[in-house]
Amino acid sequence: LLTLAIETSCDETSAAVLKNGREVLSNVISTQIEQHKKFGGVVPEVASRKHVENVDMVIQDALDEAGVSLRQIDHIGVTYGPGLVGALLVGVSTAKAMAYALNIPLIGVNHIEGHIYANFIEDPTLEPPFLCLIVSGGHSHLAYIKDYGRYEIMGKTRDDAVGEAFDKVARAMELGYPGGPIIDQLAKQGDPNAIHFPRVYLENDSYDFSFSGLKSAVLNYLNSQRQKGEGIKVEDVAASFQQAVMEVLIHKTLEGAKQKNVDKIVLAGGVAANSALREGLKKKAAALGFDVKYPSLQLCTDNAAMIGCAAYYNYLKGNTADLYLNAVPNLKLGQLYEKHR
Ligand code: ATP
Ligand code: MG
Ligand code: FE
Repeated sequence: LLTLAIETSCDETSAAVLKNGREVLSNVISTQIEQHKKFGGVVPEVASRKHVENVDMVIQDALDEAGVSLRQIDHIGVTYGPGLVGALLVGVSTAKAMAYALNIPLIGVNHIEGHIYANFIEDPTLEPPFLCLIVSGGHSHLAYIKDYGRYEIMGKTRDDAVGEAFDKVARAMELGYPGGPIIDQLAKQGDPNAIHFPRVYLENDSYDFSFSGLKSAVLNYLNSQRQKGEGIKVEDVAASFQQAVMEVLIHKTLEGAKQKNVDKIVLAGGVAANSALREGLKKKAAALGFDVKYPSLQLCTDNAAMIGCAAYYNYLKGNTADLYLNAVPNLKLGQLYEKHR
């Protein structure tokens, strides 16, 4: 089976072709980071326009790179949420038009589910059940993945997502956008114990997260240093902030893995690219006998291959959409299509 997948939920226009769900024949990603950089974040209107300009070309490139023609495609998967409504609509409209014209099944994919499925591409032998820490620009979930398409959300952020906290802290230090990779690099030259930032664990036994207090603590620190006329060592701030985030994430993830009695822990989402998270979790998990997996860097951040993999497994379950499929900006993990008639 050949899947064509389209992803336009945020600031990456991406198309991919997959064979039997896990073999990536092409994964073309056109990023708009340069267009949004000067604004310090994604401007929704600009994102939608860029998707419109690029989507046809990106799809054609994905087909060419895979060496397949449109006629050979068996079904089309597309991200329909969560994300920016105008951005999502570009992919959804394109996918619907193509599915209709080619008379092939259409599958709507949850973007967050896609992030989880990046791991099935990375490791063709990976099978559920496992525990998954999903940390991206807009989401932070600790989820127990019982089976394909069956998720139990154990905890989630009550305020900022992890990636959002990285981006906001980087912006306050005028480091550029997106902040995650920059802080990751700077932190390698800094002292993680230089500044003590709060670790927020919330109630005992809670798997929820909260990062807005930490973000405020960093902003307060920067302001007070500036007011005192004292210097800011960005490497130390980056390392100390990152350490405060990762300690909490790693602790809760390991507790969750113990509770669910799994043997595998899987990372997903853009922040899964973070080197301190990857290495820190791997080290601590190994001591407890858990196997840790994460996607390669390109599969951590937004891409259509992960959407294609999720589309394939949804298709196998008969989970296809009709042409009433619409963009759902606040789509929840595990939520099924709403029929609009
Ligand atoms: P969502 O998936 O929640 O809809 P998104 O698609 O915008 O949001 P992703 O593309 O999954 O988010 O990830 C982008 C986020 O990952 C950004 O916030 C970015 O700063 C963060 N990120 C990327 N690389 C790293 C890194 N090495 N360390 C920390 N954060 C990172
Ligand atoms: Mg992005
Ligand atoms: Fe994403």
